[in-house]
Amino acid sequence: MFFVLEGIDGSGKSTQIGLLYNHIRSKNMKVVMTHEPTNGAIGRMIKRILRGKEKADTLTLQMLFIADRADHIDKFISPNMKNGGIVLSDRYFYSTIAFGKATGLDDKWLSAIFSKFLMPNAVIFIDVDPKRAIERIEKRGIQSRLSKRFGQKERHDNLETLTKTRMEYLKLQKNYKNYFIVDGNRSIKEVSKDIIAIVDKILQHAPVV
Ligand code: ADP
Repeated sequence: MFFVLEGIDGSGKSTQIGLLYNHIRSKNMKVVMTHEPTNGAIGRMIKRILRGKEKADTLTLQMLFIADRADHIDKFISPNMKNGGIVLSDRYFYSTIAFGKATGLDDKWLSAIFSKFLMPNAVIFIDVDPKRAIERIEKRGIQSRLSKRFGQKERHDNLETLTKTRMEYLKLQKNYKNYFIVDGNRSIKEVSKDIIAIVDKILQHAPVV
């Protein structure tokens, strides 16, 4: 099975994926977690662009995300789903549609490409007010021991882009099945409770492998 967490930066995806992972592990199920962009060659190139170390336009950037994702499915997601394994991913193609559209790309061809991609069993969009997300990112930057590397602003971390991206994420619910929206403007525990309830419900109905 395959579950995806989505949201703008600072919405709590990496925090929540860790909690969900621990919850599934505690049930003795086979589970792995991963994220996009990946740590592979294409993912590393994407991170350089996002941090302004390399120049690329929006189209090039999103094409790299698509290639990174295809590679991710091939090398990590599909192999780990074999024999009933559960894969949790922090971001998937919904990010490309939401960020791509917010930065001026046509979503029709993006959606057409992704119609051939592996569909997750559920996507959970953690919906957070962009202003709050920016506050969290700034706080994280100060807290992080690696703030020099990760604390710097990324290309999409401004209020206008995050606001547009959030709107695009909300619109995606009508186009995709099993697309859940969770209110992320609450405590970590409350958000986690909702996410776990959604995933548990789907796992309960999954065929035993
Ligand atoms: P993302 O992976 O979506 O960028 P993170 O999980 O890294 O977001 O969260 C960004 C920052 O906000 C972290 O410092 C995290 O501890 C904090 N955070 C996450 N969820 C919440 C929450 N519900 N309430 C308050 N702070 C949160």
